[in-house]
Amino acid sequence: MHLELATQDGHRKDVGKDTRSPLEIRGLTVSYGEKPALFSVDATFEPGAMTAIIGPNGAGKSTLLKAALGIVKPVSGRIRSYGKSLSAQRHRIAYVPQRASVDWDFPTRVLDVVLMGLYRQLGLLGRVRPKHLEIAMSCLARVGMEGFADRQIGQLSGGQQQRVFLARALAQGADLYLLDEPFAGVDAATEKAIIAVLKALKEQGKTVIAVHHDLATVPDYFDRVFIINTSRVAEGPVAEAFVPEYLQEAYGGRLATAQMGAAG
Ligand code: ADP
Ligand code: MG
Repeated sequence: MHLELATQDGHRKDVGKDTRSPLEIRGLTVSYGEKPALFSVDATFEPGAMTAIIGPNGAGKSTLLKAALGIVKPVSGRIRSYGKSLSAQRHRIAYVPQRASVDWDFPTRVLDVVLMGLYRQLGLLGRVRPKHLEIAMSCLARVGMEGFADRQIGQLSGGQQQRVFLARALAQGADLYLLDEPFAGVDAATEKAIIAVLKALKEQGKTVIAVHHDLATVPDYFDRVFIINTSRVAEGPVAEAFVPEYLQEAYGGRLATAQMGAAG
């Protein structure tokens, strides 16, 4: 339960769990060229829930996350996080980008990738102290990668890289976690490890929003879905929104392909 206590100087002090929406989007339109990638999208993500963003290829799922992070500039629309502007809350939002979008040519040690999640604590001088190493190592342990701290990230398997990215997000100590297809191209053990970490975050009251490709696992993994195809198709608890009518509307003739892809 969320309580707001007015302190003597008039400022409001947050006590307990934050029940305001970690991500509230109104009338969001994003365009890279002439055709909009997102058109007038409204979304209200529930705090403490795990929500899957689903929709066909090119539906604007990644763009939605990037807009929520301020990485792409909208043509119009409003984004609020925990009742405030995005810029005021950006530090509470962690992002795990789509793995394929990251270039690994630059040699970087696993431990350094995770330390990047601590940039706010490290400050301008970036002096790494023992407590920072401890946090980074414990985050690596949470994803089962503590034995890889000194490896080059480019030498890891796809699943291992994805775990390291998740560890970096954990190090940030965020309240809202945005993940773009975290299970794409990872092995079964990594998928299990990641979902366990995400469920543990939820248990701590954190909010998880993941672009998700595999329709078959939606009911097992997620509480809610946000279905999109440039515009919003449906939003709600899995039992209400993850239904053939909306899936058909979003995927059209591609639904059979999406399900085959999910099964294979
Ligand atoms: P999804 O993640 O659902 O597959 P995206 O958000 O990546 O969809 O893309 C939505 C649309 O915007 C697609 O038509 C895609 O081709 C286009 N798009 C995405 N990123 C860019 C970009 N950087 N420049 C131009 N077009 C883009
Ligand atoms: Mg995408």
